[in-house]
Amino acid sequence: MIRILYVTITIFSFFLQYSIAQSDTLFLKAKSGDGIISLLKRHNLDPDYYVDTFKKQNADKLIDNKHLILGETYMLAIETLTEDSISKATKIVEDSLLLGAVIYIISGHGGPDPGAITIIEGHTISEDEYAYDICLRLKYEILKHSGEAKMIIHDPNDSIRNDRILEIDIDEVCYPNLEIPYNHTKRLVQRADAVNDLYSEKAANSYQRVIVVHLDSRSKGQTVDVFFYHYPGSKKGKTFANNLKDVFAEKYAEHQPNRGYEGTVSGRNLLVLRKTLPPAAFVELANIKNSHNQKRFLDPDNRQALAKWLCEGIIRDFNSE
Ligand SMILES: [Zn+2]
Repeated sequence: MIRILYVTITIFSFFLQYSIAQSDTLFLKAKSGDGIISLLKRHNLDPDYYVDTFKKQNADKLIDNKHLILGETYMLAIETLTEDSISKATKIVEDSLLLGAVIYIISGHGGPDPGAITIIEGHTISEDEYAYDICLRLKYEILKHSGEAKMIIHDPNDSIRNDRILEIDIDEVCYPNLEIPYNHTKRLVQRADAVNDLYSEKAANSYQRVIVVHLDSRSKGQTVDVFFYHYPGSKKGKTFANNLKDVFAEKYAEHQPNRGYEGTVSGRNLLVLRKTLPPAAFVELANIKNSHNQKRFLDPDNRQALAKWLCEGIIRDFNSE
């Protein structure tokens, strides 16, 4: 009997994993003390994206449209939040704060280049996967506010992920669908060209900005705050970077008042900043090797906060124009 039970559980958990990977229909059982949020989180589903869908699909099994019934199994049919599905999603828009703004998002590295790597709990993790996850979340935020967001680095099947450890793959491409070259300079020129091609199609006086998202790699002992670069000669790039930084300073003052925030803005002659035509800001989110900094990008809630704050910085810059 125990053996049969074991086999059944093994088969069931195999299907559960399979269905999560395919992200079609999930079955979530409410345990004692569960609310919708904790139920979703336990299944690695970000409440920010799935609460409304959950309520709609389970209206007949909720008390007062918000409380779960203990022991009840809830069903959730979801679409994975890849870049393509985010672009096609119709019910994202919440307001028009970024109406008319065009943001080019360059997720650092990708393809054959993982960027900085380190080992966490026995797993090798890479900069490009975390940058990409935050960029996807940023795109979602921008669309929520009616902005246009173009991801220059694109991964056809990676969705917004709620795991701590993000598996490394090498199938990222550069807009529109170009293989990313191994050569460092060619790689950077390719992404700058992609931005400039898109930029040239838009009205010259429209609000367009480039945001380049990286994690840094320094010695283990060094903690860094989120900091920013702009191209030394670019006034608008500098203003953009300062607006982003100001939001981070305010958020830290609000959420961790005794912490202090030492993020900086400085000019730096980086190829991507120099070659892209729209004003650009380059953000370094954390030192991938520092255990204190790692919390900032390993925790999916923190990745979500980083994306939200970057978006708020963009809104501020858009309004200041
Ligand atoms: Zn990097």
